[in-house]
Amino acid sequence: MSRITVLRLSHRIGRDDRVTTHVALTARAFGASGIAISGDRDENLLNSLRGVTERWGGPFEVTHVDDWLRYLKERRSEGDLLVHLTMYGLSLLEVMEELKRLSATRTMVVIVGSSKVPREVYDLADYNVSIGHQPHSEVAALAVFLDRLLEGRVFSIAFQGAKIVVIPDPRRKRVVRSSYDRELRLRTEGES
Ligand code: SAM
Repeated sequence: MSRITVLRLSHRIGRDDRVTTHVALTARAFGASGIAISGDRDENLLNSLRGVTERWGGPFEVTHVDDWLRYLKERRSEGDLLVHLTMYGLSLLEVMEELKRLSATRTMVVIVGSSKVPREVYDLADYNVSIGHQPHSEVAALAVFLDRLLEGRVFSIAFQGAKIVVIPDPRRKRVVRSSYDRELRLRTEGES
């Protein structure tokens, strides 16, 4: 189990619903242990993300952050490692081994922006890290970052307490639901 929280900065209801949802789904699927969302407090979004974890398993913590600056300062003073994903930072390839080593003993906060990212984030971050130096997307940046850092954990994570599990099939959608409890248990045990 990783100890990585993603901080999604400056969520705006209406404008960012879809992208913030995808940031959270990507964080969960690729191995982060939770997401903290700053900006507008969006109860619909928070509930819908918690619903995903209820159905598809966890653990994955979803929280709202009122004051992102205070949050980052507190996490930093608790010894967490702050990593900001930005096209202006050092290439992930340059800092990857250092980050892997540090993340073995320290909780990591991975920060992704939405609109313009305030200067303080660059200053507070222990690492400003780029996934290439071209503008793309917080979802893409997060996926590549987590995949590289966690060495492909996306392909093997066993989510606990899942009510739905996909049965891989070359041709059609197949899932097992918790009403078939025994089959589900066998499948999730087999995967761990
Ligand atoms: N215009 C904003 C700014 O100047 O800070 C950035 C907007 S961008 C669509 C949203 C987020 O995607 C960024 O804050 C960053 O976290 C992430 N991102 C986009 N391109 C990236 C890259 N090449 N490397 C790392 N992160 C990137």
